[in-house]
Amino acid sequence: TYDVHIIGGGLAGSEAAWQLARRGFKVRLSEMRGTGERSPAHQTDGLAEMVCSNSFRSDDDEKNAVGLLHHEMRRCDSVIMAAAAAAQVPAGSALAVDRDVFSAEVEARLAALPGLDIVRERVDTLPDAGMTIVATGPLTAEALAGSIAQATGADSLAFFDAIAPIVYHDTIDMDVCWKASRWDKPSKLGGEAKDYINCPMDRDQYLAFHRGLVEGEKTSFKEWEANTPYFDGCMPIEVMAERGVDTLRFGPMKPVGLDNPRTGRWPYAVVQLRQDNKLGTLWNMVGFQTKLKHAAQVELFRTIPGLEKAEFARLGGLHRNTFLNSPILLDRQLRLKTAPHVRFAGQITGCEGYVESAAVGMLAGLMAGAELAGREWQAPPATTALGALLSHITGDAEADSYQPMNVNFGLFPPLHDVKKKQRKEAYTARAKDEIVPWLSGLVPA
Ligand code: FAD
Repeated sequence: TYDVHIIGGGLAGSEAAWQLARRGFKVRLSEMRGTGERSPAHQTDGLAEMVCSNSFRSDDDEKNAVGLLHHEMRRCDSVIMAAAAAAQVPAGSALAVDRDVFSAEVEARLAALPGLDIVRERVDTLPDAGMTIVATGPLTAEALAGSIAQATGADSLAFFDAIAPIVYHDTIDMDVCWKASRWDKPSKLGGEAKDYINCPMDRDQYLAFHRGLVEGEKTSFKEWEANTPYFDGCMPIEVMAERGVDTLRFGPMKPVGLDNPRTGRWPYAVVQLRQDNKLGTLWNMVGFQTKLKHAAQVELFRTIPGLEKAEFARLGGLHRNTFLNSPILLDRQLRLKTAPHVRFAGQITGCEGYVESAAVGMLAGLMAGAELAGREWQAPPATTALGALLSHITGDAEADSYQPMNVNFGLFPPLHDVKKKQRKEAYTARAKDEIVPWLSGLVPA
């Protein structure tokens, strides 16, 4: 017997399990990977697998909303943040990790908790009784997705998310490329400002590359998928290219602040790669998520200077993500209004991103813990990143136009009196103060 059944051992489910089991509650964590089955995006059987980029984005907790969310999660002893610290690789001011080390760290920490059973099994129906947390993510297995659709009675919502290719380091021509961070920003892990590999392009190379993206053969979609929108923060590179010839030069291929040591100047455009594992053998093409067919990707990406002989550990791809219309379906504690023994957590609630998914998993775990302990749940203050995100999902967002959302300062109660230049620091300072009393009201670990 157990107190809580968590379905899905991804970013959210792992964090929820951690928060509950370390408070002494008995938890069954069901994860279908390891039974021979995987979603189309997952490539391993490890818990908390990061399916695309290896980055938890900005770690700046003074001026950045996701950096603030990192801070708040650390204050709650998040296992995702602890494992990220142990698995960190250089990435400027971002928090990037070796995804295999990260997943192994999460798994080891969870396995060490006495009341937690990690069971490799696929769950096909929503349990009709017993406290449950559903954290099966944007690629929830089909039978369970059907059972959720039946229980919610609502049309499911969906959008597209794309993944970027990964290149083997020893196939990159470092006589053409060079290592540097934009504006020579110092590395967060110490040492020189050389966190990215940069591939330079001149004007003709860029124009030819742009044409190749627009004309390249794309994966086609079934008609019923035609009106599904892309998530703005993860737009395929060829979709961005279609918006205009210079869109990429002002986006992921921006050359500013990157002096090519061979010319002493900024190139016309640049392709950046970020380290993807601790060994430094794998490098991720930053912002290059794509739905080009695999053969077209290899052909086109090998026209990038320095990548002529590139071998790919993984090519890009596109996936349809499912999420709930949470503002209508869930109460303020992430419980299904029509079946309150079921909580939802992670990206299936309509937050977007690894960090946000883990944060909502953490909140679901804390809420379940309070309920089991017979305590009244206090929501985190709306002035904190946790509170702002939770308010958005559980009621403040417009249900009619509900779309996946990263954490951002637009979700925070505004500080009109503070000058615009100082506003971000004011938001983070306020949040860091106001989270403190809330932390002391949590069920002790
Ligand atoms: P997941 O991490 O997907 O975890 C869900 C878990 O549930 C999985 O382990 C799955 O195997 C399991 N599961 C599913 N169904 C069942 C079942 N019936 N029974 C038992 N187990 C089940 N976010 C970023 O921040 N950066 C990115 O670059 C990024 N790229 C993405 C690319 C793609 C293609 C997708 C789909 C998403 C991407 N995301 C990205 C968004 C999001 O942050 C991740 O999907 C994140 O992993 C969501 O966390 P989660 O815990 O909600 O779901």
